[in-house]
Amino acid sequence: MGRLNVVMLRYLSRDHFRVLTAVEMGMKNHEIVPASLIASIASLKHGGCNKILRELVKHKLLAYERTKTVQGYRLTNGGYDYLALKTLSSREVVNSVGNQMGVGKESDIYIVANEEEQQLALKLHRLGRTSFRNLKNKRDYHKHRHKMSWLYLSRLAAMKEFAYMKALHDRKFPVPKPFDYNRHAVVMELISGYPLCQVHQIEDPASVYSELMELIVKLANHGLIHGDFNEFNLLLDSEDQVTMIDFPQMVSTSHPNAEWYFDRDVKCIRDFFKKRFSYESELFPTFQDIRKECSLDVEIAASGYTKEMQEDDELLYPAGPDEEDYKTVFTQLVDDFDGKVNLYTAAEENKINFTDELEDDTESKSSKVLMNSSKEVDITDSTLDTEPRAPDTRAARSNSAESSANDFELVKQKIKRQLTKQQKAALRRRLQKGEANVYTKQRRENMFNIKSTLDAASFWG
Ligand code: ADP
Ligand code: MG
Repeated sequence: MGRLNVVMLRYLSRDHFRVLTAVEMGMKNHEIVPASLIASIASLKHGGCNKILRELVKHKLLAYERTKTVQGYRLTNGGYDYLALKTLSSREVVNSVGNQMGVGKESDIYIVANEEEQQLALKLHRLGRTSFRNLKNKRDYHKHRHKMSWLYLSRLAAMKEFAYMKALHDRKFPVPKPFDYNRHAVVMELISGYPLCQVHQIEDPASVYSELMELIVKLANHGLIHGDFNEFNLLLDSEDQVTMIDFPQMVSTSHPNAEWYFDRDVKCIRDFFKKRFSYESELFPTFQDIRKECSLDVEIAASGYTKEMQEDDELLYPAGPDEEDYKTVFTQLVDDFDGKVNLYTAAEENKINFTDELEDDTESKSSKVLMNSSKEVDITDSTLDTEPRAPDTRAARSNSAESSANDFELVKQKIKRQLTKQQKAALRRRLQKGEANVYTKQRRENMFNIKSTLDAASFWG
């Protein structure tokens, strides 16, 4: 991080560039590239190559590493930045580099200028360890291992960001104009404004709020979900005009978790407006509001993105429900199961009571279900409406005896299944215990035999 060492751009020779590129190529298959391989990729004599390697290490464009099995070189962030900048400057996109103006979650942002002295923003993607979160399990990690290098991931992120920014800009979405990209670097229009997280007062929160909600829906109508639509990725100018940034994690509306991502983007804005501007609105979009106009997701995939890159797209997905999945699903299961056991036992114990009450109490707003712990739980209409997961209690208080009978049947079956599972597990445990007992018995017998043999031996001899 920090300053980019642009001076190096001017003073490095062709051979330095050659060696640096050779290390980059070597890193496709090696985490640490041996000097001999670098020399042969760069077609340079070993002696000359070693001298250049030492100089590149001195300038921190390469790092020398030595482990038990290998010794060699790897690119540093600086080295990779140098390669990207060198290309961007030879394409005359970037002529000079100014100050760093932002640090994102996974990037460094610099102000740069082109030949016409127009100021632009340069985003250098720095992906690495954090992206591992997207891998569901260890097997996935091993499958993708060769692609998990920060070099590959950062390049993938830049390519994806550029592709989306371009498609969105072409369709007049409020995003920065993209200029060019190379490796992990994206050059784009410099937006004058502040990220919403730094804005503490706006004239008309309601209109900015609805503009943002409309933007989420418009994106979805184009087949896209931002996936990180929050106060850090929305810039507001002096006229309160919004610009949306940061696209590497965008997902398609046909992604299996699309609705979850969509709702999360909406919730981020609602929460922020409530907290920061004390503005709350009853109106907010849901996934069902989407009226698909076109499939930008498919178009983008068909255009710039290479097939290989598309396959690895999931490495860049935003953190999804999967991470919380295990915990919520598990608690939900336990809750459901507990609830059903309670309801079931209560219903069994108070069958007559319960149906009587249902029949008598058709007009009552609240039915009382006696739980097995003989606690009385009041299930009122309001609890039913606010509790998202109360299908069984809802059914229990339904007026239709048939539906509650069906429900009990379901509950019974589930408990039966669960019980047989538990019984099977208990049987397995018993078996293991039994086996262990047999084994101990045998050992005891053996010991007894040995002892008696020894005793007999000492007796005879
Ligand atoms: P990250 O993916 O690391 O979160 P972002 O693209 O969100 O990176 O950029 C990080 C910060 O840099 C933003 O919050 C914003 O302040 C600033 N920034 C990024 N792009 C621009 C731009 N084009 N113009 C002005 N500021 C920008
Ligand atoms: Mg960001």
